[in-house]
Amino acid sequence: MGSGGMIVMDDSACMVNVARYFMEFCMSESCGKCIPCRAGTAQMFELLTRMTSGTATPHDLELLEDLCDMVSNTSLCGLGQSAPNPVLSTLRYFREEYTEHIVDKHCRAGVCECSKLAEVPHESGARCKTLVIDGTDVSASSDQTILDAAQEMGFRFLPYAISMD
Ligand code: SF4
Repeated sequence: MGSGGMIVMDDSACMVNVARYFMEFCMSESCGKCIPCRAGTAQMFELLTRMTSGTATPHDLELLEDLCDMVSNTSLCGLGQSAPNPVLSTLRYFREEYTEHIVDKHCRAGVCECSKLAEVPHESGARCKTLVIDGTDVSASSDQTILDAAQEMGFRFLPYAISMD
């Protein structure tokens, strides 16, 4: 991350979550002078958050890759130009982990929220997703996101945690 330092991780680290961590750093360090970096890092952070929370779609991965290109090619200084690097590196070497998060809602390291989503039988007999939020069981039907179900129960989330659709 710009300092020449090396970080060693084992298989208990989730590469999507690592990319999200570094994107949050770049987003917070952006001075905001140019739009590609200011808005692009925030949008990439939101897309990565969707992936780790289990609400991303395959289209979000296409958007993420397009944003990487745009931000690295149009930002004014090295911070914005290098901000997509952790995403590009993890996509290059660990693309299957992104696919697992998006398609299977599974984090092989078991650190992301999506890995806590489980398909379980509902009282009605239909399959549903469940998640424990602040000690409360939240269940979503198959045609509902866990965020929608939680919001119906009165939970409130930061804007970046909520779908842009
Ligand atoms: S790329 Fe550089 S100049 Fe542009 S917003 Fe980011 S930190 Fe500021």
